[in-house]
Amino acid sequence: MIPYSKQSVNHEDLEALKEALFSSHLTQGQRVSEFESLVAARAGAPFALALNSATSALYCAYAALGIGQNDEVITTPISFVATTNMLLALGAKPVFCDILPNGNIDPSKIEPLITPRTRAIVSVDYAGQSVAVNSIAHIAKKHGLLWISDSSHAFGARVGDLPVGSFADATIFSFHAIKPITTAEGGAVVFKDAEAHKKAQLLHSHGVQKKALWNSEVEFLGFNFRLNELGAALGISQYKRLDSFIAKRDSIARLYDSLLADSPFCTTLAREPHLTTTHHLYPVFLALSLWCSKESLFAQLHEKGIGAQVHYKPINSYALYGADSRATPAANDFYLSELSLPCHQEMSEEQAREIVQTFNALCAKESNACAT
Ligand SMILES: *Cc1c(COP(=O)(O)O)cnc(C)c1O
Repeated sequence: MIPYSKQSVNHEDLEALKEALFSSHLTQGQRVSEFESLVAARAGAPFALALNSATSALYCAYAALGIGQNDEVITTPISFVATTNMLLALGAKPVFCDILPNGNIDPSKIEPLITPRTRAIVSVDYAGQSVAVNSIAHIAKKHGLLWISDSSHAFGARVGDLPVGSFADATIFSFHAIKPITTAEGGAVVFKDAEAHKKAQLLHSHGVQKKALWNSEVEFLGFNFRLNELGAALGISQYKRLDSFIAKRDSIARLYDSLLADSPFCTTLAREPHLTTTHHLYPVFLALSLWCSKESLFAQLHEKGIGAQVHYKPINSYALYGADSRATPAANDFYLSELSLPCHQEMSEEQAREIVQTFNALCAKESNACAT
């Protein structure tokens, strides 16, 4: 099975892991801080905190910026559910905003959703392509709202020359196995503000503040959301290849773009020349006549060893979120049409060609099935 995304590890990663494993500290050593410095530098942000997952990073970012009970947060339904689960964990209410054809939150739909209780906008860089940073920053500033970017797909992405991570009040990255680079499990949050960073640091490690000698103080509840030294060692080693991973996925994506350019079966994401995307996903959007066959297409692709996936079922259609997505029709259509084809740095161009051939053959067959 060719998965939709996949890690790429090599001998250098193994050596870095071995060194960390036999070092004095398996956790709470120097490698985590070293990794944090790399993340901060790449994200163009002054403060970075590494954690054991992006989910923990989302929780700490929200909490550190003061989002809590009864706050409303305007966000996108087209994301992994962790984006909003961590709002619920803090007693905040996600308010779902509709999306653009590229899967990102539609800035023109945000303002009508603002109420006196709105505290923040949480956007997601779908597939690794940045949201419209200027529009969102403008709306946030105009209404005194926080802006938090779940950039779990987008570590290494850019807008012009500026890195994703340099725009929002807080930006979250995931280093889950199949994200742009990996620490096996892991995540990070970068902040503009030193105070928020300090608060998140306490939250992610028991809330314990060291005083003199053995003495410490605890003023509020904290957890253990720390990244360990093995994960950090892997992350440092992987970071050296981030740009080559992005370049490889870009070449696969360009090949798909050209092979699918005149397809009667689907459209693809429009390329935006000023954006450097990580291509964490390669989504295609089925023609309306194929929506009825998406399940069948999905199953047949899997039978033929092509691990297509769907990103995402709208979060507002889940039971936990009230199972009512009528307020976001564009997100619903996005869900009905979207399929993610395999796109990762371990794939060959030959495989991409075969995937398109198989996809076209199956679509041709299904097109007739839909018509009858
Ligand atoms: C992967 C992902 C997460 C969660 O990341 P973990 O590191 O697995 O906790 C959150 N948000 C989005 C958009 C993701 O894709």
